[in-house]
Amino acid sequence: MAVYIDVIVDISVSSLDRIFQYRVPEEMLDAVTVGCQVSVPFGNGNRRRQAFVVGVGNSPSYDETKIKDILEVTKAPAATGQLIALADWMHEWYGCTMAQALKTVLPIKKSVKEVKRVTYFLADREKAQQLLDKSRKNRREKARVRFLEAILREEHLTKETVTGVLQISSATMKAILQTGVIREETSQIYRDPVKQKLKGWQEVCLNEEQQQAVEGIWKNAAICREHWTEESGIHLLYGITGSGKTEVYMSLMEKTLSEGRQVIVLIPEISLTLQTVSRFYDRFGSQIAIMNSKLSAGERYDQYMRAKRGEASIMIGPRSALFTPFDRLGLIIIDEEHESAYKSETVPRYHAAEVAARRASMAGALVVMGSATPAVADYQKALDGRIGLHRMTHRARAGSRLPDVQVVDLRKEFRMKNRGILSCSLQEAMEHCLKRGEQMMLFLNRRGYAGFVSCRSCGYVMKCSHCDVSMTVHHHHLLKCHYCGSEQPVPRVCPSCGSPYIAGFGVGTQKVEEFVQNTFPEARILRMDRDTTSGKDDMGRILQTFSEGGADILIGTQMIVKGHDFANVTLVGILAADLSMFAGDYQSSERTFQLLTQAAGRAGRGNRPGQVIIQTYQPEHYCIQTAAAQDYDSFYSQEIRFRQMLHYPPDRQMMVLLAEGESDQEAALAVKKLREIATEADFDGVEFIGPSRASITRARDLYRYTLYMKHQDSKELIRLRDFLEGYLKWSQQFQNIYFTFDLREQ
Ligand code: ADP
Ligand code: ZN
Ligand code: ZN
Repeated sequence: MAVYIDVIVDISVSSLDRIFQYRVPEEMLDAVTVGCQVSVPFGNGNRRRQAFVVGVGNSPSYDETKIKDILEVTKAPAATGQLIALADWMHEWYGCTMAQALKTVLPIKKSVKEVKRVTYFLADREKAQQLLDKSRKNRREKARVRFLEAILREEHLTKETVTGVLQISSATMKAILQTGVIREETSQIYRDPVKQKLKGWQEVCLNEEQQQAVEGIWKNAAICREHWTEESGIHLLYGITGSGKTEVYMSLMEKTLSEGRQVIVLIPEISLTLQTVSRFYDRFGSQIAIMNSKLSAGERYDQYMRAKRGEASIMIGPRSALFTPFDRLGLIIIDEEHESAYKSETVPRYHAAEVAARRASMAGALVVMGSATPAVADYQKALDGRIGLHRMTHRARAGSRLPDVQVVDLRKEFRMKNRGILSCSLQEAMEHCLKRGEQMMLFLNRRGYAGFVSCRSCGYVMKCSHCDVSMTVHHHHLLKCHYCGSEQPVPRVCPSCGSPYIAGFGVGTQKVEEFVQNTFPEARILRMDRDTTSGKDDMGRILQTFSEGGADILIGTQMIVKGHDFANVTLVGILAADLSMFAGDYQSSERTFQLLTQAAGRAGRGNRPGQVIIQTYQPEHYCIQTAAAQDYDSFYSQEIRFRQMLHYPPDRQMMVLLAEGESDQEAALAVKKLREIATEADFDGVEFIGPSRASITRARDLYRYTLYMKHQDSKELIRLRDFLEGYLKWSQQFQNIYFTFDLREQ
C-alpha cells in the first residue's frame, strides 16, 4: 500500500494551514515518521525544498497521479521534530486539528525581522550611584532603582534581562539613557551571556529532607534517559508551604545544566512576579529566558530563538513555555502543579502536566511537579507508585513554623447580631497585629461567586439531591443543578432550621476595603483584585509596596495567596471560606482546600509566629477542617472517597461535550441526539450524564448545553469522541451548532 505524507514547507503562521501531500518511495518507508524532515520537489519548477512531516497515512487527499514523490529523508533538528511529534499527539489526544496543534507548539515567525541584540553598559559609575541615591527617595522610580542597582553590580545587562527579568519598560530605559550614565550597544554577537549572573546569590546548605528529595529524584535521571517510564520520569515533590521546594528545583537544575542539558520551569502566570523570577535569576543569570503573556509576539519569538540558538538553557514561563525548542531537554519543573491555570481553556484544551510528560518521554527528561497541595489525581498516582513521591514536611527557614489556625463559625456571629464582614476574633487579632506594627493579609475567596444559596442562621447549603453539588440561583427565584439539570424554586425558609434568612451570598473586595477602613481609620490599606491590576505593572507595584512595608493590610482575591513570601506578615484572615466550596463543581472542595492552605501558608514565614483565622458557615466541612489542621493527607483520603462514590475523576476519566447554538432548542436537541447515537453504538461501560445546561447557560448570544461521558479509560473516551465527530461530519446535521470536547483526567 502506498504511503502518503502531509508536510509543511515553511514554519510561519500563514503557512500552517497549507499542508502539502507527497508520496513516500518504498525504500524510504522505514525512515519516515511525524516530525522528521524531508526534501521535496516544490512548485512548478520542482525546486528542492526542506519540509517537515506532520502526518502519515494511506489515502491520497486528491488526484493520486498528481502527487509527487519525496526526494530524501533528512534528519529533523531534534527540537522541531519533537515539537511536531508532540503536536501530532495533541491533535489525537485532545481532538484538535493538526494546524491548531502546530500553532500551539511551534515558535512562529510573525514576520521576518532582524533580531537586534542590545546590551546596556555602565558608562559612568559615579553618576549612576548619584542617580540611584536620588531615585531611591522617589517612590515612583522603583523601576529605575531596580535597573541602577543591577547595572552597578553587573556592569552590563542585556536587553532581554532588562525587559524580561527586571520588567522595566522601554520608556524608563529611554529616560535613563538620556542621563548618560549608561550607553547602549547593538551587536551581532551575543556577549558571553552564560557568564552573566546577578551576583546576589548566596549558597544555602540543603537540609536533610531537601537532600533526600534531590537525590531521590536525580538517581532516576540516568535511567529515564535510557528508557523513559512514568515511574522513573515523573516525580511529585509534595512539600508543605515554606519547605524549600525552590531550592530543590534549583539544585536539580544545576545538575541538569552541568550535563549540558536544558531546563523548562513552569510557573503559573499569576505567580510570575519579579520576586519569584529573581530567585532563579540570582543563581543562574542570563542563562535564563523568560516568557509571559505580556511579551509581544516578537519579544516572545526572540526568547524562543535565544533558546534555540543555545544562548539560554533555562526557560521560565507559563504553560506555553513547554514548547521551548530545546534540543537537549533534561528537566521540566512544574511549580504549584495543582494550579488550574495549567489547563488550557481554549483549543487545544491540553493540561500542561500531560503534555510535559509526553515531551519528557520523547526527550528522556525528568518531570518534577511541586506543590504543598497536590492535585488529588496526581497524589493518587504517587501513592500507587505510578510516579515518584518525595515528601518535605518541615519549614526550611530556621525558626519558621506553620501558623496557628483558628476557625470562626459565622453562624454564631450572626446569632450574636454581628452582621459585619469581620468576626470578633478576626477584628481583635487585627487590632493586635496593627499594634505590633506587623502586616496582615485579608483574603476574599471569590471563585464560586456564581451564587450558591445558603442559610445565614445554620449554614445549610441548597444542594442537588442527585449530584451532591450545590445548586446555583437563576433569575433570583430558581435553583438549578448544572450537572443533571434538575430545578427547584428557592425556598422561603431554610429546609433545615426554618430560618427566613436564606439568600445568595455575595460581597466584593471593594466593600471589604471600605468596611476595614471604617473599622481601622489609621490603617494603611492596599487592595489587589482584577480592578486594581489592569495595568501592565500594577500587580508588581502593589506587591513591591507591600513587601517594603508600605501598607499594613493587603486585601485581595486569589491573586494575593499565590507563592508570595512576605516575612513580616503574621496574620492572615480568610473572610468567607465557603465561597468556593459550593461552586457547583466536583472540584470545589479540592480548590477550596488548596486556596485555604496556600492562604494560611502566607502567615509566619519569617521568624515571628503566624496566625490564621478562617471565617466560614461550614466549620464542620472536611475541607475546612483539614485545611485548618493543614493536613493534606486527611483531606485527600476523604476527597478521594467522594470522587469514587460519585464516579468523578480520577476515579473515572471524563469527556465533556459542550454544544453551543443560537437556537436554544436546537442546541439541546443536538446533545440529546449525540447521546442517543453514542448509546446505540458499541461503547462498553460509558456512563452518560446530561444533556443539561452548562454552568454558564448563555455566552456570546449562544445557548450552551453539556453532556458528561465517564469511563475508566481515557482511550475509550477518545474513541467515542472521534466517533461522534465522525458522525457529525458524515450526517451534516447540526451545522449551526458549535461542538467542543474537553478531556478531563483530574
Ligand atoms: P516553598 O517553595 O516550598 O514554599 P521556598 O523555596 O520559598 O519554599 O523556601 C521558603 C524559605 O526558606 C525561603 O526564604 C528560602 O530561602 C528558605 N530556605 C529554603 N531552603 C533553605 C535551607 N536549606 N536553609 C535555610 N533556608 C532555606
Ligand atoms: Zn437554616
Ligand atoms: Zn443534580
